[in-house]
Amino acid sequence: MKETKQYPFVPIYGIPFSKLTMQDTVVWLTQAIQERRSTHVITANPIMVMAALENANFMKVMKQSDLVVPDGTGVVWAANYVGDPLPERVTGFDLLHQLMTAGQEYRWRVYMLGASPEVIQEAASRLQQQYPAIEIVGYRDGYFGAAEDEQVVEQISSLHPDILFVARGADTQEPWIAKYRDRLNSTVMMGVGGSFDVISGRSKRAPEWVQSMRIEWLYRLVKEPSRFTRMLALPKFALKVMRDKEKVTKIN
Ligand code: UDP
Repeated sequence: MKETKQYPFVPIYGIPFSKLTMQDTVVWLTQAIQERRSTHVITANPIMVMAALENANFMKVMKQSDLVVPDGTGVVWAANYVGDPLPERVTGFDLLHQLMTAGQEYRWRVYMLGASPEVIQEAASRLQQQYPAIEIVGYRDGYFGAAEDEQVVEQISSLHPDILFVARGADTQEPWIAKYRDRLNSTVMMGVGGSFDVISGRSKRAPEWVQSMRIEWLYRLVKEPSRFTRMLALPKFALKVMRDKEKVTKIN
């Protein structure tokens, strides 16, 4: 692992999970924006860890990002299980809102990329209303192919946002950011998965009680049974961590 990580972390199969609390994460990212330090943030869960273990390119993307935060109860559990606990879960959805709140003071410029055309339009308008001092400099849907990458990258780059949120599904958004990060002219770049769907009102986040019981994964499974195959990665991850207990933080 690169020893250049600028934050305290727990390595889980070589992926450096940040030990920063939500509040400290926001402070850390605020500083990155003020210094205009290009920062790819990944909010990672066990499904992404398992994907990285099966796909060398995805692992590289995870390791080369600038900050990996523990989105997903399973990651917090694993760190605790191997005796190097993380202070708390930092979900992408909450981090997005915390950054918007912090950014009001500095009038940050934000670009939103991803989700369907209706969802992104509604999400942009709701966020602008909720955070009037933020400047949403642009948005576009996430349904485009590689042939359109150039045009999308150029548009974002010309607007030089402080924050770029990308919602195209974890397996697409993170490699996309990694590929174009040097040309996006954006400071903080972060994948936010299904967050725009929730913000637009199109889909609902699990209720508080479900979140506090740590069964958000079960809620999503019931709502979207098509996730079943993908979610098998959760028990697989748990079993793997139990089996590898001594090695989890030592494997690179
Ligand atoms: N999405 C997109 N382009 C695509 C595929 C997905 O913009 O080619 C959007 C989708 O509309 C949703 C978000 O990406 O808003 C997350 O999708 P999904 O829930 O499938 O992702 P995951 O759960 O894998 O992160």
